[in-house]
Amino acid sequence: MKAPVWAVLRRLSDGGVHSGERLAEELGCSRASVNARIQALADGYQLRIDRVRGQGYRLLSPIDWLDAAAIQAGAPAGVRVEVVEEAASTNSDVLARAAAGEASGLARLAESQTAGRGRFGRRWLAPLGGGLTFSLLWRFECGVGQLSGLSLVVGVALTRVLNRLGAPVRLKWPNDLLLGERKLAGILIELAGDALGPSAVVIGVGLNLLPAGDVGQPAAALREAGVTVSRNVLAAALLTELAAALGQFADEGFAPFQAEWQHWHAWQDEPVVVEPMQGEALAGLALGIDAQGALRLLTSEGERSVHAGEVSLRRLV
Ligand code: ATP
Repeated sequence: MKAPVWAVLRRLSDGGVHSGERLAEELGCSRASVNARIQALADGYQLRIDRVRGQGYRLLSPIDWLDAAAIQAGAPAGVRVEVVEEAASTNSDVLARAAAGEASGLARLAESQTAGRGRFGRRWLAPLGGGLTFSLLWRFECGVGQLSGLSLVVGVALTRVLNRLGAPVRLKWPNDLLLGERKLAGILIELAGDALGPSAVVIGVGLNLLPAGDVGQPAAALREAGVTVSRNVLAAALLTELAAALGQFADEGFAPFQAEWQHWHAWQDEPVVVEPMQGEALAGLALGIDAQGALRLLTSEGERSVHAGEVSLRRLV
């Protein structure tokens, strides 16, 4: 989206009524152009914009904008916060920055992603202002071979914060956050480096504060749990907890997180099915995780360890 469209949106987002004439003046364009831009905004971002006859335009649900300075103020030392209005994918941006030598600790948040990604090339969809989508660059001295369990550590860190805020969030192996049985947040970890190290990791997080609409599977939002925290406060809290957990993981490995992950496990001892990208599905009881973060699955042929790789987990009902 071009800058003037964002300018219209920011002007409207205080919830007040703005006359078309005034908007045209402020934005340096014709009234017809203001009208076209507002229509495009409403269509493209699924915003509810009211036309008040004889008075102007009003955004029916004001936007809680991200503010880099506010997030930075609450972020831990070593984390550098950037906010962009639009990115194709913040993970792609941060991967490129990592390849160009960016230091550990870059956090990039986007108001809107045009090609937000999940695992296996799946899409992450989020309504404007209704969620948090960000990516954090973290460098480790060890190789990627020693980072198994990292995605679970990230899940634990996010879950701690959300439970502290009063949302009874649980973890679905390997790295989704659920509210009840619906998906509240997804984590996409992309690695660069070799087996011996050092490695650079891009941790992508998508989290719903408000209902995300039709995203291909049942989705939940923090507001349903009565949590109405500002996006800036929440982003700073998540970055703070993530930095602490990543530091501990770098020093001590996955062991200190195993019991806590298990504590937050949504489907402990429940029947599940592991669906690989290719090959046959495997059903069993989810016994929790082992010391490496692999899923312990009790199948009809005994206990099996399932590694995160290219599998998705579904509950058997
Ligand atoms: P799954 O959640 O199906 O086990 P996954 O863990 O691989 O798969 P992610 O990479 O976390 O999935 O996220 C992509 C998937 O999440 C999409 O295929 C879609 O079903 C779902 N999704 C997309 N946007 C949202 C959203 N805002 N809230 C909840 N779920 C979403």
